[in-house]
Amino acid sequence: MKDDNSVFPAGIKRTKHRRSVYSVLENAASPLSAPEIFSRVRDGDASVWLSTVYRILDCFVSEGLVLKTTVMDSSMAFYELNREQHRHYAVCVNCRKVIELVNCPMEKFVPEIAESDFHVLGHKVEMYGYCKDCDKKISSLH
Ligand SMILES: [Zn+2]
Ligand SMILES: [Zn+2]
Repeated sequence: MKDDNSVFPAGIKRTKHRRSVYSVLENAASPLSAPEIFSRVRDGDASVWLSTVYRILDCFVSEGLVLKTTVMDSSMAFYELNREQHRHYAVCVNCRKVIELVNCPMEKFVPEIAESDFHVLGHKVEMYGYCKDCDKKISSLH
């Protein structure tokens, strides 16, 4: 693990577990679920509990450090560092793989909002389906 003193945000107390969770998210190529984060943290530190990971994630989310994406139902949530760049994901409903969208489906969308002064800050898009592998498996059953 590299020295994270420069990247770990000020204002959040640096504990060993918080640093581990942050580092896992920093090195993740795609958003991770809490159990996935937990298993990666535990690889380096057997003393961590899943409930601790959830608590740390809640703290990071409320500090705006981490983005939580909930897909389809609240039992399926993914976490990623808030890199202040706008990204969307598609989720496979069979294996729960998360795949990054290369564009924004809302780019050319002009919202019609009843209140004309409404100030839009952002949007969420839920995209779900079958990944390449699951699609093959499922279509071969028919
Ligand atoms: Zn799949
Ligand atoms: Zn977008």
